[in-house]
Amino acid sequence: MQLYSTIDPRFDALIHKNVRMETLWTGARWCEGPVWVPSGRYLLWSDIPNDRVMRWDWADGHVSTFEQPCFNRNGHTIDAQGRVIACEHRGRAVTRTEHDGTRRVLADRYQGKRFNSPNDVVVKRDGSIWFTDPSYGIDSDYEGDKSPSEIGARNVYRIDPDGSVERVIDDMVQPNGLAFSPDESLLYVADTGRTHQPDCTPAIRAYPVAADGKSLGAGQTLCECDVGLYDGFRVDTDGNIWSSAGDGVHCYAADGTLLGKILVDEVVANICFGGPKLNRLFICATTSLRSIYVNARGVSHFA
Ligand code: MG
Repeated sequence: MQLYSTIDPRFDALIHKNVRMETLWTGARWCEGPVWVPSGRYLLWSDIPNDRVMRWDWADGHVSTFEQPCFNRNGHTIDAQGRVIACEHRGRAVTRTEHDGTRRVLADRYQGKRFNSPNDVVVKRDGSIWFTDPSYGIDSDYEGDKSPSEIGARNVYRIDPDGSVERVIDDMVQPNGLAFSPDESLLYVADTGRTHQPDCTPAIRAYPVAADGKSLGAGQTLCECDVGLYDGFRVDTDGNIWSSAGDGVHCYAADGTLLGKILVDEVVANICFGGPKLNRLFICATTSLRSIYVNARGVSHFA
């Protein structure tokens, strides 16, 4: 199978043509939410329908169950103190694993109403935590508990270091993956609303971060997905966007130009950069965890 599809010549500088895609593990129902934990040199990711978090170890490639049950965790990120932050479908919360291992709920409701099912999360350098809240975890019992939406909308929220929660985006159908540009002047958010509205174009939208660092201006479509949907994605240090899609990983320049694709024979739900140099892409591809080295580095949470 062809591994790369170069659309813009700039893509050739971002890949290694002589490397292979590795399948690190297989056996999941739906892989999602990868996060690289640098202090432990391991990768965590979710297998949402199986209600478990898996761990892949850098030192010897061993894969084990890290936590099960796990409140049907979905997206993960890590904060500047190295703590893992998780989106829980069944917990309907954003939680943090403290250094002593305890689970701390950071937010589970907005204006007194429970969230739908937090999906993906990112930490800004000021310590605020931004997350999406589509309905996938309450639509059925497959990835959470089937429940009505208390909020009645699918929004994006910000949790401030003092624990307060504010809504920052309310104009998306199903907000999903999200990431900041390297200078944090833009918040990118994927909309997977086609799952619920056939006329919703699968796209990543770019929202300018206001001068206060807390609110957002009007969003604009940055790119539209030509195969499947964008779910989770990450940004490299040069501002390129590496996104999950129906046929693999799509790489876009900061202006939204599709540079190229890394083709995968399963639907990709999310990716992250990992390894000591953050130059290895870990790919959550439906049933399997894949990886491939690229000539790009993910933005460090510890810069
Ligand atoms: Mg997602």
